[in-house]
Amino acid sequence: MPNGAATPFASSKVSIPVLNYHSVTIDPGNVVVISPAKLEAQMKYLHDQGYTPISLDTFIKLIEKKSGIVAPNKPVLLTFDDGYVDNVEEAMPILAKYNFPATLFMSPGMVEDPSYLSWEGAKQLQQAGWDIQPHGMTHPHLPKLSSEEQAYQITEARKLIEEQLGTQADVFCFPYGEYNQTTLKLLKAHGFRYAFTIEQGYTTNQQSPYLLKRLFINGEESLKAFINKLHKAN
Ligand SMILES: [Zn+2]
Repeated sequence: MPNGAATPFASSKVSIPVLNYHSVTIDPGNVVVISPAKLEAQMKYLHDQGYTPISLDTFIKLIEKKSGIVAPNKPVLLTFDDGYVDNVEEAMPILAKYNFPATLFMSPGMVEDPSYLSWEGAKQLQQAGWDIQPHGMTHPHLPKLSSEEQAYQITEARKLIEEQLGTQADVFCFPYGEYNQTTLKLLKAHGFRYAFTIEQGYTTNQQSPYLLKRLFINGEESLKAFINKLHKAN
């Protein structure tokens, strides 16, 4: 092979479905809320079909093709946005039943609000195998903010999570999926490794690290629609 030519291995595509959930409770008509029964059915499906929900750490190693990492059977990353208190009450026990890890994107400015997780709740999820990462301090529309305000939203959220939970919190998730060039520059300047959008599709190693796609799970959809989404998006 001539010098400089990419080997088939180096150019091979890694493609992983990243499922995007939010609140887990009963709220008919609200597409960003999934009922505990539906979440349970989806987790059972993943389990029965041999999918392997992975930690954020494993996800990153697979995307980066770290040597020595053996891809598990049908890897999938489960993500939950916003940090609703029902994630502890409803989602955590369902995932624990199948021994599935997940990744939570929380806004630390909301910890005093009873609808959202306190630090105690975030710690419970962490102990149950969830990775906790930043979603802005107060879930702002980032493009509407000045560069200084954006920097605060991004870096303060990370700092608080790292202080409170003793973890590395350098994987961002854009509130409302919104960002501009300033946001991307700030993530790079502050050493963030990855960022997730709400653009639809499998996540691949060929996407920009700050523009990773996910699959939005519509809480109103049937199990059949969930299965179709999981299979078709590849
Ligand atoms: Zn959000």
